[in-house]
Amino acid sequence: MNVKVSIVRCAEYNDKLLYDKVGEAVSLAGGLSEFKGKKVLLNPNILFAVGPDRPVTTHPAFVGAVCRHFIEAGAEVYAGDSPGVHPPHMAGRVSGIAKAVTDAGAHWVDFHHGIDTPNPGGRMVKRFPIAEIFSKVDTVVSLPKLKTHGMMYYTGAMKNLYGMIPGLTKAQLHVRFPERANFAAMIVDLNILLKPAMAIMDGVIAMEGPGPGSGYPRNTGLILASKNILALDMTVCRIIGYDPHKIPIMSDALSREFWLKSESEIVTAGETVADVRVKDFKLVKVLHDAGFINKLFPGLFKLIRSITVPKPRFLHNKCIRCGECIKICKSDALCFVDDNSPKYGKKISADYKKCIRCYCCHEVCPADAIRLR
Ligand code: SF4
Ligand code: SF4
Repeated sequence: MNVKVSIVRCAEYNDKLLYDKVGEAVSLAGGLSEFKGKKVLLNPNILFAVGPDRPVTTHPAFVGAVCRHFIEAGAEVYAGDSPGVHPPHMAGRVSGIAKAVTDAGAHWVDFHHGIDTPNPGGRMVKRFPIAEIFSKVDTVVSLPKLKTHGMMYYTGAMKNLYGMIPGLTKAQLHVRFPERANFAAMIVDLNILLKPAMAIMDGVIAMEGPGPGSGYPRNTGLILASKNILALDMTVCRIIGYDPHKIPIMSDALSREFWLKSESEIVTAGETVADVRVKDFKLVKVLHDAGFINKLFPGLFKLIRSITVPKPRFLHNKCIRCGECIKICKSDALCFVDDNSPKYGKKISADYKKCIRCYCCHEVCPADAIRLR
């Protein structure tokens, strides 16, 4: 079976250009005719409340262009996300995405309430709390931003749908699944439940280096679309230089044979991977998973983990003492302690014995004050 992924070049966030290039990408990926008369929920990445000058969220102009294409195809369009810390209405406003959605004629939705939803096809998680709007639409489309990720190496279309779980429940799942392989299996289970009909990626300005919140902008100039979410993510990994088989979410998803039996089923339309390959994209280094050692020698595993797995380190000179990292840390590993800085009189203190290295604090820090070392 051939599974199509379209790759289209788009140099900048210009409304007219984005409209044309998103149209070209979705058309090459098979078009939108099946969405006519359907209620479609678009899920952009809004990690936290930050404007489009930083490459943290899916760009509002990109989301607006996608909304217009779905509306023109005859769909009733809803869009929203659940940021890690800030309330959805605030993140929607600050990112500019809520306005872009309503300006395009679609409905903005704040993801507040989760509905306990059975997931009989899940391997590890048989129930998820999913944003209420999911029960009222016909289908979901993932609109990720191309970014690296400190814990999972790469965050694309599948990981993006973690935003369908409202608010702080996401942090609780990090605590429940602290190991990469289990966390990846949970994300794959979530995608099996949501069954996204399509993914359209904003890779115009990507984030490289220490993503997903503190990395650096990289002008990759790309838009990708596919009706197969795994195929899109595997293709993007090849473009930026990862072997997708070594990325936990993708290797787990491939093992389920739910989306693909093998990478060889993927065919590209528009540009090829070789045409657009970014040779020096700054990646998060892939580490060996020591889970098997844990089963045999739990004490040794703890020691290896504590030596080899990066810890969140706090840059007190950059920290603005907002406390977001404390709020999101479900391991209770962070607190403020007194210090003698004249401006704040307090600083963050971390208890690394409690820290499970979920990196939620790193994801939500608005001041780029946390490094994984
Ligand atoms: S300190 Fe950060 S990485 Fe450690 S458990 Fe808390 S949120 Fe996760
Ligand atoms: S480290 Fe970041 S999230 Fe934590 S208090 Fe400082 S600025 Fe806020």
